[in-house]
Amino acid sequence: MSAWKRIVSVLLSLIVLSGFAYPAQKHDRTFYEKTGEIIWEVPQQEKKIALTFDDGPSEETTGQILDLLKEYHAKATFFVVGNRVMEYPDMVKRELSEGHEIGNHTFSHYYLRNSTKSLTFQNEILNTEKVLVELTGMKPHLFRPPGGYYNEQMVHDTKKLGYTTILWSWHQDTNDWRRPGVRSISKKVITNARNGDIVLLHDYVPGSNQTVKALKVILPELTKEGFQFVTVSELISSKQEEGARNQIPLY
Ligand SMILES: [Zn+2]
Repeated sequence: MSAWKRIVSVLLSLIVLSGFAYPAQKHDRTFYEKTGEIIWEVPQQEKKIALTFDDGPSEETTGQILDLLKEYHAKATFFVVGNRVMEYPDMVKRELSEGHEIGNHTFSHYYLRNSTKSLTFQNEILNTEKVLVELTGMKPHLFRPPGGYYNEQMVHDTKKLGYTTILWSWHQDTNDWRRPGVRSISKKVITNARNGDIVLLHDYVPGSNQTVKALKVILPELTKEGFQFVTVSELISSKQEEGARNQIPLY
């Protein structure tokens, strides 16, 4: 091979390699479930379900939800928005003191777009993290992207920042933010309930108390059916413990 050909060949491979540094294509769910970088649900033998509440905190609804969770000895995960945490810091303190988990949902409920710059999105996460660390002394480890939008870059960045991306069970998307009616929300969750589900709800839907009313039906019914409501982290560790147990030889 002539020197020129070698140079051209090296240049070509550099171009190809740099193109693959952040592959443009979006992997599918199977890929990410294998790598564990995104979690939709955590199927398991235990009758455990994770309720998640996005977009809060809010002045009224969050408090009402916390009251109900306490009544049914239920734990949940709140994916909070940084600028709302600044507005209602006491609500976040209450969530933590009552045994719930806090996850990061960006600072301004920022929707990821193809044109979004990596640094812009990282700052959305880091700004919420800063507010939470200052308020609670704890760094969150779970991240939920607004609207559930993700791409390769985002998954790479969130992992680098120490987060696992959490979405939700597709059969547990209640659409409560659209205010579909109390019955629609409660029926969706109760009818579809399976071990290891991650349920998508919102504790901030302007002008709506449908989520609160639906919880008054969901919590007693699923408790009666033997389900336990746990945080997302507990749902994950419950599955890990199950895996460890199953590897123990019987004899
Ligand atoms: Zn949201």
